[in-house]
Amino acid sequence: MFFRDIAGQDIAVGKLRDAIDNNRLPHALLITGPEGTCGLALAWAAAQYILCQHKHDGEPCGECPECIQASKLGHPDLHWVYPLINKGGSGKEASVSEDFLSDWRTALMQNPNLNLQQWIRAQGSDENKQAHIFVSEAGSIIRTLSTKPYESDYRILILWLPEKLNEDAANKLLKIVEEPYEKTFFLMVSNNPEQIIGTIQSRVQRLQLAPIDFQGNFVQPGIQQPDEEDRLFFFEKFCAMMRLSYSRKLFEMKKWSEEMANLGRERQKGYLQYAQNLIRENYVMNLHQPELNYMKPDEETFSSRFSRFVNARNVEGIMHELEVAENDVTLNVSSKMIFFDLSLKLIMLLKAGNQG
Ligand SMILES: [Zn+2]
Repeated sequence: MFFRDIAGQDIAVGKLRDAIDNNRLPHALLITGPEGTCGLALAWAAAQYILCQHKHDGEPCGECPECIQASKLGHPDLHWVYPLINKGGSGKEASVSEDFLSDWRTALMQNPNLNLQQWIRAQGSDENKQAHIFVSEAGSIIRTLSTKPYESDYRILILWLPEKLNEDAANKLLKIVEEPYEKTFFLMVSNNPEQIIGTIQSRVQRLQLAPIDFQGNFVQPGIQQPDEEDRLFFFEKFCAMMRLSYSRKLFEMKKWSEEMANLGRERQKGYLQYAQNLIRENYVMNLHQPELNYMKPDEETFSSRFSRFVNARNVEGIMHELEVAENDVTLNVSSKMIFFDLSLKLIMLLKAGNQG
């Protein structure tokens, strides 16, 4: 996981990177932000950055053995703790995270912005069940951290959702959070920090993530929704634009931009606003946040394939180009040029989103 894959959190990323670079990372750090704010992915990127032997330009190298192991969730000095559904019967000790490591690996590799409901489903459990971090887990954490690191100078434990620590577990962990073993970092990631037991809260430093304000960031207020006839037309043009730019069909792109140039300015603007909206929806879909998606069925079908091309590497760039084009339409710049130029820029942006 790289810092550059974390969208919309430049300030938090900068603070974390600086702290690591200057050996000022607190031994127990609580990363907080609501669901969808990439806290887990950020902790993962930080861990890889700490472990990497050849970090450069503020990123892990991605190529050294430490990076490769960390990126596959297989690094022996990077430990993961997460809430579980207790499957042990009475008298049996509750499960610990390690028992579910392969499920966790699969789930997190598929979706670094995993939420608790998705993780409960991935454990093969009913979503209505409550997940906790049990006292047996605290015992296991203490055992794990009391041994020497295997390969690295540092050992890192990422504890996801400390608000799910039950009281016994939290109490058992207090001492180790307060006075951690040497060269050990505790990175906790919380969606509801106010629910964390007070004694833990008071012993950790916090890093607050920026809320993801989709309305503010991506949709300009006061945009009129197109009527259904326009929407269908815009949707068809949007699919064509993305398809042609992706496959670099320059001649057909030229034809497409001439068609767009024949529309009135207001419809051109309407189209560009519609395109911004659909890019936002695709980005949200890529983040696996279906409850935040608002698409018509035809858009959803298209986006189920297209959304993987809209990600942290290019979403801001695409939005920027669409805004520039919209602005140019208002300024009466030659429409043919605006739309052809836009489709050319999209070639590079879609390529950037398709890497890695
Ligand atoms: Zn590396």
